[in-house]
Amino acid sequence: MTSPFTPRVTATIDLAAIRHNLARVREYAPGSKVMAAIKADAYGHGAVSVGRALQQAGVDAFAVACLEEALVLREAALTAPITLLEGVLSLEEAEEAARLQLQVVVHDFWQLELLRRLPQERPLTLWFKLDSGMHRLGFPLAAAAELLAALQARPAWTLAGWITHLACADEADNPMTQRQVQAFEQALQGIPGPRSIANSAGLIVWPQARVDWVRPGLMLYGASPLPGGSTGAELGLRPAMCVESRLIAVHELEAGETVGYGATFRCPERMRVGVVAVGYADGVHRILPTGAPVLIHGKRAPIVGRVSMDMISVDLRGLPQARAGDTVVLWGPGLPAEEVAGWAGTLAYELFCGLTNRVHFIHRN
Ligand SMILES: *Cc1c(COP(=O)(O)O)cnc(C)c1O
Repeated sequence: MTSPFTPRVTATIDLAAIRHNLARVREYAPGSKVMAAIKADAYGHGAVSVGRALQQAGVDAFAVACLEEALVLREAALTAPITLLEGVLSLEEAEEAARLQLQVVVHDFWQLELLRRLPQERPLTLWFKLDSGMHRLGFPLAAAAELLAALQARPAWTLAGWITHLACADEADNPMTQRQVQAFEQALQGIPGPRSIANSAGLIVWPQARVDWVRPGLMLYGASPLPGGSTGAELGLRPAMCVESRLIAVHELEAGETVGYGATFRCPERMRVGVVAVGYADGVHRILPTGAPVLIHGKRAPIVGRVSMDMISVDLRGLPQARAGDTVVLWGPGLPAEEVAGWAGTLAYELFCGLTNRVHFIHRN
């Protein structure tokens, strides 16, 4: 039966773009294995569809934030190794992680104690996370030898490797990255096991961070992780997400008339203003100011007035041909999420993750 509903807001996900972006990762880091970050529902792109596309394209492993996210992938019969980036929170989770054969990050002694409460013979594969200076998660660097000993004391445990995370990888002139990489390598001198350092920014900007494993997230979705108005296209990436809605009204307003809540926009002249069926309840940030762009017939049109829950208004002065029913792109090819995010004082990461369940997803191969 066909649905009586016309999708109002759609997010079309281009899986070929994601496979292309994986190939770009491999060009940047040809000697590294790739652990694709598909946490947070693949940054809002749909973890199962993205996971399938990446697995088809030969990705080496996946990374997720928590057990629930890993379970979704296992239930979809994805077979590539899955790393739990924050490890486990309880003994029950440890049991489940072992049962699902997940690779578990251990970032603190309390987690190590927890895992030790599993039966001796229970197989487990562990990544040890070291804190090389970001001071978010990780053991002190000096703990590496002790951690290795703890692992070797349990013959059923396998070492997946050693992980650290970079705080300032997107700043090409920040010496912190070099210091973190050096401190990490130094702490692991003579200690066996694969190393993993770089997220997207790390692997793009810092050749020395392209070690055994890289852990790209954002770049797989086609957005640039670098600041200063850089876009994915400049890095040879293809945006994977296109968010669209449609014009549902077009008004001819007189000079001096105002638009939307708070009457914050006043027409400087007689002009056409369109109403688009998308708002903050769909994931369009309310903070977007007058002037932030949308794309209609391939042309930028500025938002005017406040973003409301279900609608935004746009200045149609540059688009005399625009009519009710026309498609409006919020971000996607032709209007980078990075640019829109800049207007909202945030990053493409947050736009992607912020789409709500009112948005209809379409995955294209
Ligand atoms: C999310 C995450 C990544 C991926 O980061 P991007 O900036 O999206 O490439 C890599 N490593 C860790 C530990 C993460 O949490």
